[in-house]
Amino acid sequence: MATPENKLAFDGGWQYSPAPESTDHVKIKKTYELFIGGEFVAPVQGKYFDTINPATEEKLSKVALASAADVDKAVKAARKAFVGWSRLKPAERGKYIFRIARILQERSREFAVIESLDGGKPIRESRDVDVPLAAAHFFYYAGWADKLEYAFPGRAVKPLGVAGQIIPWNFPLLMAAWKIAPALACGNTVVLKPAETTPLTALKLAEVIADAGLPPGVVNIVTGAGETGAAIVNHPGFDKIAFTGSTDVGRIIQKALAGSNKKYTLELGGKAANIIFADAAIDEAVEGIVNGIFFNQGHVCCAGSRLLVQEPVADAVIRKLRDRMETLIVGDPLDKNTDIGAINSKQQLETIKSYLAIGQEEGSEMFQSSCAVPKRGYWCRPTIFTGVSQSNRVVQEEIFGPVLAIQTFRTFDEALIKANNTPYGLSGGVWTDKGSKIFKMTQSIRAGVVWANTFNKFDPTSPFGGNKESGVGREGGMHGLDAYLKLGG
Ligand code: ADP
Repeated sequence: MATPENKLAFDGGWQYSPAPESTDHVKIKKTYELFIGGEFVAPVQGKYFDTINPATEEKLSKVALASAADVDKAVKAARKAFVGWSRLKPAERGKYIFRIARILQERSREFAVIESLDGGKPIRESRDVDVPLAAAHFFYYAGWADKLEYAFPGRAVKPLGVAGQIIPWNFPLLMAAWKIAPALACGNTVVLKPAETTPLTALKLAEVIADAGLPPGVVNIVTGAGETGAAIVNHPGFDKIAFTGSTDVGRIIQKALAGSNKKYTLELGGKAANIIFADAAIDEAVEGIVNGIFFNQGHVCCAGSRLLVQEPVADAVIRKLRDRMETLIVGDPLDKNTDIGAINSKQQLETIKSYLAIGQEEGSEMFQSSCAVPKRGYWCRPTIFTGVSQSNRVVQEEIFGPVLAIQTFRTFDEALIKANNTPYGLSGGVWTDKGSKIFKMTQSIRAGVVWANTFNKFDPTSPFGGNKESGVGREGGMHGLDAYLKLGG
């Protein structure tokens, strides 16, 4: 988020000074093919789709559309590669994964620029969060490759086989790393499908994987939309399906897999409560609220999209939050001063706008910052709703945009009941001066991840995943190994 240091003093106030990241030396091909068996190959049906820059609506590249026949080719390549990869000395597997991590670090600037161009997120986030965290995941799981028996003492560990992995558009490279790194460390091979609006960094990762010398077929990347995803889910050649995306699609996948022998993990939607007690450090809490909901335009499954604030400080917190929202810069994702980039797609902007209308129809009061937004591209000013009630759709449903629903509470128990009263259970936040309250709240919120006096902090060593309609299984940390192993007695 913008700090006074990256704005220039002017007339006693702050003036915005554009500082766009250069796109020189960033290589985006005109056309991307499918990455199957270690090579870039044309799709069987010869179909392609465009990926665009959501900040300008300009086409960035043409990308292969994989059909069921391409998915089949990828599964066969992965199955063939599994024989050698699963028998490789674990320390050797680790070396390949370390190599991917190091090349990612070396090319981090290029990855960050492409991530921001293709997905719309601010360069400060792709540069400081997405790319370093993606490399950190490869480093972390590379270290586990030859230590699996120490993770599960006394158990026999065996890879599952071929994993089908379907990822969303909000953290394209990071989600690819979350999925690929543990799968490879455990000796599996993979077929990964990035989301249709953000395929470029996964395809760039395919280049890194080829440059790292991974045996052909260990990692295959197929691009396409929902139909390609469904072709993965329904292909009998997979031993495991790992999905991150919406709860609606997660339901379809869970039904499709029922009765099959495939292991699966589903990381789905969320509607996290960020709970501010009256004894919290208020200025820090306001920064935590801003980071919780406006980070990555609110395109975050674990976003703090509900604020629960204790009554004695509610007016002060809301006033400070509105003041802080007025300082946020919405605009060019490649500008280092930008706090909130472009909404990922036209379709997502329409979804967000429909919720802005729903919130107002439900009788809530809407406040948006008054900042200017560019004429072209997809944009949404930071928005809060006050005067909402628990049953309102803006409180119960995932909006996946920079939109915060604010409620107040009097007692600890009221906060807890409200926090738990949605269909989701992915994450939560608690802000208080009292360790005992932190302990009690983190034990009581039904959520996979609860942050205390911070929000949206990620680390490869921490397990991540949800309860209720937020999903099944855990990724990250040692739990992330379990998801890719058959454990014997
Ligand atoms: P969103 O609604 O936020 O776009 P989705 O859950 O639709 O999120 O998308 C997440 C990922 O799931 C994307 O890679 C998308 O292409 C894929 N996908 C969409 N529909 C299906 C489906 N029916 N089966 C498998 N994958 C799907």
